[in-house]
Amino acid sequence: MRTTAAIAPAKGQPFVVEPIEIEEPRADEVLVRIVAAGMCHTDLGFRDMFPWDRPIVLGHEGAGIVERVGANVTALVPGDRVVLTFDSCGRCRRCARGKPSYCDQFRPRNFGGARADRSSALKRDGGPLAGHFFGQSSFSGHAIATERNAIKVADDLPLERLGPLGCGIITGAGAVLNSLGVPTGASIAVFGAGAVGISGVMAARVAGATTIIAVDVKPARLALAMELGATHIVNAAQEDVVKRIRALTLGGADFSIDTTGVPDVLRQAVVALATLGVCGVIAGSEAPMTLPWRDVLYGRTVRGILEGDAIPSEFIPLLIELHRQGRFPFDRLVRYYPLAEINQAAQDSLNGETVKPILTF
Ligand SMILES: [Zn+2]
Ligand SMILES: [Zn+2]
Repeated sequence: MRTTAAIAPAKGQPFVVEPIEIEEPRADEVLVRIVAAGMCHTDLGFRDMFPWDRPIVLGHEGAGIVERVGANVTALVPGDRVVLTFDSCGRCRRCARGKPSYCDQFRPRNFGGARADRSSALKRDGGPLAGHFFGQSSFSGHAIATERNAIKVADDLPLERLGPLGCGIITGAGAVLNSLGVPTGASIAVFGAGAVGISGVMAARVAGATTIIAVDVKPARLALAMELGATHIVNAAQEDVVKRIRALTLGGADFSIDTTGVPDVLRQAVVALATLGVCGVIAGSEAPMTLPWRDVLYGRTVRGILEGDAIPSEFIPLLIELHRQGRFPFDRLVRYYPLAEINQAAQDSLNGETVKPILTF
């Protein structure tokens, strides 16, 4: 069938919105009509790295309605409302241990530009088109997913709001609630007050942390973090971040999270910890980590975290319930753009004007 998608044509190039062809779902797949899709920095990071040999449809925070299901699909039926999340195999040792974001096939299934068997369900003008980004490629009117990464959601909330729960929001909230296990009374410093960081701030409040410090260089983002649960804010452009965090936490934070991927920021996130503190590393960088040896030796932990250690079928409904109760107001982060304005959304995301763009179809 034909649908309309935003195509990333080549390394660093703007998106183009064009008709594409999409195959019918295979036996283990579902076809989802996309209602809205969040934009995550990973979409733009991969657009600008472009590890594929052909144009691709990106997008990995899709929300939509199941239109057709393959013969072997049992968990979903047409009409189900779903949030699309990252893909995993369901069979490897990590998946068996309930850690699907560390799946043996995480990279090929999410970044490979194709299904596990290297085929693509997408074409443009009969020519090759990569897809299956995070097992979905949801910058498209329709997307192919599987029942493992299409998570059924309740129908009492606006579906167009829920897509970011598939990646950015579970990443920040899961780091706090699942990976670090931040307990009541703890202190935590969150570096970067974007969608991932503020999700971590909101989750820290849910967890009962008593000192929640948001660090950024943009006053508007810091103000939003303060409204959504931070007890303190630090403007890194104006203050000595480590000194301020140590003062606020009587010597060092129990936990920190780096959402920036900037080596100097990561170093601050480690140095600002108390002994036995844990720093969660959420963002990627090609640069080497440079950390003061002694700070790590003195009982500190630096822990890499993918997708907030989430089991999506369990964690996405949990966050939806917290949201319904008013305890996780992630709708405050979002701004909606029609698909045709995807390049504006990308620009607003990169320069920090918009915390979480959502494209609507
Ligand atoms: Zn696996
Ligand atoms: Zn993402």
